[in-house]
Amino acid sequence: KRSSPSQTEFYQAAEEVLESLRPLIEKYPKYAKHKIIERIVEPERQIFFRVNWVDDNGEIQVNKGFRVEFNSALGPYKGGLRFHPSVNAGVIKFLGFEQIFKNALTGLQIGGGKGGSDFDPKGKSDNEIMRFCQAFMTELFRHIGANTDVPAGDIGVGAREIGYMFGMYKKLANRYEGVLTGKSLLWGGSLGRTQATGYGAVYFAKYMLEARNETLENKICVVSGSGNVAIYTIEKLYQIGAIPVTCSDSRGMIYDKEGIDLELLKELKEVKRQRLTEYVKHRPNAIYTPVEEYKEGTNAVYSIPCFAAFPSATQNELNLKDAKNLLANGCICVSEGANMPSTPDAVNLFIKEKIAYGPGKAANAGGVATSQLEMAQNASMVNWTFEEVEAKLEQIMKNIFETTSKTAAEFGEPTNLVLGANIAGFRKVADAMIEQGLV
Ligand code: NDP
Repeated sequence: KRSSPSQTEFYQAAEEVLESLRPLIEKYPKYAKHKIIERIVEPERQIFFRVNWVDDNGEIQVNKGFRVEFNSALGPYKGGLRFHPSVNAGVIKFLGFEQIFKNALTGLQIGGGKGGSDFDPKGKSDNEIMRFCQAFMTELFRHIGANTDVPAGDIGVGAREIGYMFGMYKKLANRYEGVLTGKSLLWGGSLGRTQATGYGAVYFAKYMLEARNETLENKICVVSGSGNVAIYTIEKLYQIGAIPVTCSDSRGMIYDKEGIDLELLKELKEVKRQRLTEYVKHRPNAIYTPVEEYKEGTNAVYSIPCFAAFPSATQNELNLKDAKNLLANGCICVSEGANMPSTPDAVNLFIKEKIAYGPGKAANAGGVATSQLEMAQNASMVNWTFEEVEAKLEQIMKNIFETTSKTAAEFGEPTNLVLGANIAGFRKVADAMIEQGLV
């Protein structure tokens, strides 16, 4: 029942999951008997709060804060915090809902949650970022904890923001514990967490392609976004011999035929926090296309001919026109680093054409899986090497691919990983909810 018109993204995500569950629900009456669908679409708890802070001009600023604690059947709530002006209750609810099934697919003991704010970090000074993060935590701290709810980063929240939020949590709670993941390596972070989502999306593509006797070696790939996920997708693509030729941000996209200059991209985005217009100043052969010049109704990233595409920016960035462009140019693999980047009609086309399509909740689960590895290291007070973490990450991505494709086959559509991911994730959470009783 659509009781709130402003929750568009949540309804989109929920409809996609519920549609794929039909064969499972019909086969096993226990899920209907226990009203699992009705229960799972309602968050266990939603916290909406005011965040007051003072900017560098001495002006009071007011933002909205959110934390949706969606489902704790499998473990403490786990999911990132997003700081972006487009954040609202519907966006956080969609992300939290997806997170439940994604976290279940990792095979680890983590429940689903998500949070954030409509605060826009762009153009803010370091002091403003710190004051905002501290103000945000003065309310959030009372709801989270290492065994209760463990937030992480997402769009607009990286190691710097996690640091400021952790500092405030520690002061308010008077506890030094693994309450946030994505921490600095100096004080409790895990090697490999920064790279995990991007690396994981490439591993997922590798396993999808391996099952079709294909590889990414020497293949042209397109990547959207230029943040954490995009950068480490590009890095892993190079490591396995592929050629990533694009990246983008909200203002435009870069097409660098010879392959994206990864060191330059890292310098611009991770160190200097600059726009992509700077990239072409250093790489005159690359082409920059501003958003205003994208062909109407398309994302220019997806009109570049490629073998595989890695959407790594944001929700609904790849529509039906983009999907058609990709297929017409010979793309046979889409592995989603971002959450819900493809619109429903684009997804349906990928499924119909039986390309190797890895939906976000499976393909980008490497990030949260490695966050759980960070929690495990914090809890046992040990640190694993980069190689240990990466080996575990690759194994987890392989398991997710195998679980989703086996489940898809069990329900008669072996190449439909949307069906496989939704059913496999749901089944695990639902069975745990039944075993734990009506709580
Ligand atoms: P970052 O903030 O590091 O980067 C986001 C990138 O996407 C930036 O290049 C940004 O451009 C671009 N972007 C954001 N909003 C829009 C928009 N409305 N239109 C076009 N481009 C946009 O975030 P992450 O890399 O961490 O996250 C990217 C995606 O991956 C998100 O969907 C996130 O939920 C998902 N994800 C992230 C995980 C992680 O571990 N970080 C884990 C699993 C999923 P600009 O700078 O111009 O805004």
